[in-house]
Amino acid sequence: MEHYQDIRDAVAKLCSRFPGEYWRALDRDMAYPREFVEALTEAGWLSILIPEEYGGSGLPLSAAAAVLEEIQRAGCNGGACHAQMYTMGTLLRHGSEAQKQRYLPKIASGELRLQAFGVTEPTSGTDTGALKTTARLDGDHFVVKGQKIWTSRAEHSDLMLLLARTTPLADGMRKTDGLSVIIVDMREALGNGLTIRPIRTMMNHATTEVFFDDLRVPAENLIGEEGKGFRYILSGMNAERILIASECVGDAKWFIEKTSAYARERHVFGRAIGMNQGIQFPIARAYANMRAAELMVREALALYEAGKNPGAEANMAKMLAADASNEAANVCIQTHGGFGFAEEYDVERKFRETRLYQVAPISTNLILSFLSEHVLGLPRSY
Ligand SMILES: Cc1cc2nc3c(=O)[nH]c(=O)nc-3n(C[C@H](O)[C@H](O)[C@H](O)COP(=O)(O)OP(=O)(O)OC[C@H]3O[C@@H](n4cnc5c(N)ncnc54)[C@H](O)[C@@H]3O)c2cc1C
Repeated sequence: MEHYQDIRDAVAKLCSRFPGEYWRALDRDMAYPREFVEALTEAGWLSILIPEEYGGSGLPLSAAAAVLEEIQRAGCNGGACHAQMYTMGTLLRHGSEAQKQRYLPKIASGELRLQAFGVTEPTSGTDTGALKTTARLDGDHFVVKGQKIWTSRAEHSDLMLLLARTTPLADGMRKTDGLSVIIVDMREALGNGLTIRPIRTMMNHATTEVFFDDLRVPAENLIGEEGKGFRYILSGMNAERILIASECVGDAKWFIEKTSAYARERHVFGRAIGMNQGIQFPIARAYANMRAAELMVREALALYEAGKNPGAEANMAKMLAADASNEAANVCIQTHGGFGFAEEYDVERKFRETRLYQVAPISTNLILSFLSEHVLGLPRSY
């Protein structure tokens, strides 16, 4: 599989313009890395999945994975803008030609940002089929009513991919049927039925809750067929999981490099702490686990690019990579002793940032449950 070294080098070079001081200042104020996202957009890195005829580079998912991995490896945070990459497939695969013509060239040029993805709701959680937000057809508009939570980057996006119920649940209907994906143009919607409220979290992630109060959205913004939205979202999930896994591999590499450097330099009892096997072994183990996770990411990418449905591999890649980055983060903070907790080392910030991926966009338990049921043939547990 192509490694995209040229892309990796160029992304790393761009990221070097955004060092730890930049992220620390934003983190203190919970501010959005606008300059960073603009630089990535201008360089074309966020549109590499968009086909060339719509102004993108038309590269495969492994190129997007390389971009996101390098961002994290450089100590930056792709969480500010990764959604454009993983929601893109829904529009590319299921959007009409007119929708692609309307949105993709502007997304590729940076004029429009597609960074918000409204699936999770406060009362339904992981049980997506139980979501309550409705979109009722009224003439040539949908009228949207309900609430989403954890809609990240909503304040920094022009478009939102929204999953809402368009057909009321009836007896005998599967609860994942009757859901549809709709593009919401938030520039028109804000103040006209759409309200966004930021949520402060343990890391700087620009996440929000959004409220729909009879918001009118043109019916032509429906993606694909009415009622098939859950399937469209599911079909994009392999890409999402693989891309998040790549970010976690990048994080793990950042932690391991940072830890090894510190263990070589820090002297206690007159010698480098890295001479102690009690310090070395956890780093070596974290490295081995990161490499194993990286192999699973490659396996998932290879299957994805061969047109297969790598549900198991994408989920395993996400879980193993999130575990590897979490382990490496823990080792990094431990190796740094007290300095691991000091802002200026960036370790505590990255530690908080990578912790998210044990829970979002899918929590580890749900991955284990998927593997148990769909790979191992164990009884369904919920
Ligand atoms: C910072 C942040 C950003 C996010 N960004 C977005 C976004 O942009 N768009 C979006 O739509 N969502 C987003 N999410 C939501 C995220 O995808 C969910 O938080 C995640 O899927 C878990 O859902 P939940 O929080 O409702 O947990 P719940 O579903 O309430 O689960 C709580 C816990 O119970 C466990 N659990 C639940 N059911 C079972 C079961 N059957 N078996 C075993 N364990 C179970 C889960 O694993 C979890 O540990 C974001 C979340 C965060 C924190």
